[in-house]
Amino acid sequence: MNWIIDIMAEAGYDTVLEASPQLKKDDPMFCPVASHSWVNEVITSAGAGQQLLVDTLAQRAKSLGAQLVYEMVGEQLEKDENGRVTGLLAHPVGSKEEYVRYVGAKGIVLATGDFSADKDMMRCYCPGIIDLLNPEAGEKNDYNVGFTWGGLYRGDGHKMGLWAGAAWQRTYPNAPMTLAVGTSGPANRTMGAHRGLLLNKNGERYSNEDANGVFANLAQRHQPGMLSYAIWGTNYAADAAPWYATGMIEGKDEPLSPEAVIEQWDAGAIGPLPQTVVKGETIEEVVEQLGLPKDAAIDSIRRYNELCAQGHDEDFHKKAEHLIGITEGPFYGAVGGKPEFLTVLGGLRTNVNLQVCDENDEPIPGLYNVGTMVGDYYANTYNFMVEGNNLGATCITFGYLTGRDIATDSFK
Ligand SMILES: Cc1cc2nc3c(=O)[nH]c(=O)nc-3n(C[C@H](O)[C@H](O)[C@H](O)COP(=O)(O)OP(=O)(O)OC[C@H]3O[C@@H](n4cnc5c(N)ncnc54)[C@H](O)[C@@H]3O)c2cc1C
Repeated sequence: MNWIIDIMAEAGYDTVLEASPQLKKDDPMFCPVASHSWVNEVITSAGAGQQLLVDTLAQRAKSLGAQLVYEMVGEQLEKDENGRVTGLLAHPVGSKEEYVRYVGAKGIVLATGDFSADKDMMRCYCPGIIDLLNPEAGEKNDYNVGFTWGGLYRGDGHKMGLWAGAAWQRTYPNAPMTLAVGTSGPANRTMGAHRGLLLNKNGERYSNEDANGVFANLAQRHQPGMLSYAIWGTNYAADAAPWYATGMIEGKDEPLSPEAVIEQWDAGAIGPLPQTVVKGETIEEVVEQLGLPKDAAIDSIRRYNELCAQGHDEDFHKKAEHLIGITEGPFYGAVGGKPEFLTVLGGLRTNVNLQVCDENDEPIPGLYNVGTMVGDYYANTYNFMVEGNNLGATCITFGYLTGRDIATDSFK
């Protein structure tokens, strides 16, 4: 990573690391630090400065003689008589009257992101999350969707690769990147979800809540209406400390104090996405305000408090340190939305050199891919167990390695 740190330092940015959840290495939910990130006087939280990197690398490439072309849509790859991918046909956004041929003297690198806005591809390769897609995603075939949830791009690069003879990845289904950071209740760890009591719409406890945001999301997706409801007491602020928040800088930011956390609850400002936060002098009031079935919810809370008091979770086997009873008022409750869908990962069969491969695992000469679309890097679900997460790994590191290897003619 030193190459990036040096380039960014030269451009005047400090490199920081997105804080990990600060769990012990032997904790099953342990996550390493997330990606490198960049801060300046405007962007001060880790994980929000990726655009600074993209802009800086673009400037640097230009200054070294690269030509950057925007507003052009790649549509089809070209091959020579030996089967080598040699070029790309593209047209301006919104017009197919004229096509431009780009010649890839050394190779073509596909980097067109995901295919989550192509519903046919999603039904085929990642059917499990169809219900979380924005019904309008992909309708406009927008190539500049920005920071959005529920569907991004239509897999143009995947299709170009398939038409050029690529095989699909072996892992099925493609792993979705889904989170539960904005679902319900306050999370005391980065990349986490609420580790106190969660109930479903029927007022039933449904999982071991000690999970990072991805796994909490999986459990929530199987609940009625895909909703979860958090209920906790004022004591949770001190008992669940230390409070780390997503966006903190590893080794620099201190945990929030319990008082600061209570202020957030009282302001209804929990997590990065909107949640309805309620407060009451009694647990019954909170249950009522959340609209939960009273008897079932109160029974579940009573049972949870019993388990907390005995320090042993016979029902879901949550670790004792997370068994924090709902004991001290005022009491709080929160309900957010359905779990968020961010992107779908993987696609074309890819070898360790980032070469796109055919059905026999033979590289298609001249064809590479990097970023989200690289096949077989994730299985089942996205998670935070890999250092750098997706940005740091498949985008930055694989991008660097591929560029270096093509420039040095490593795989002719
Ligand atoms: C809301 C949200 C938050 C996220 N947060 C994180 C995070 O914190 N950490 C993390 O690691 N990942 C995060 N991700 C995942 C993130 O999308 C990827 O890690 C990263 O942006 C993928 O980079 P990429 O270059 O592969 O694809 P993208 O960034 O999606 O870029 C693909 C590009 O290809 C262009 N394109 C598509 N088709 C064509 C075509 N035919 N011709 C020309 N250009 C084309 C698109 O316009 C786009 O500019 C998040 C995703 C979302 C949606």
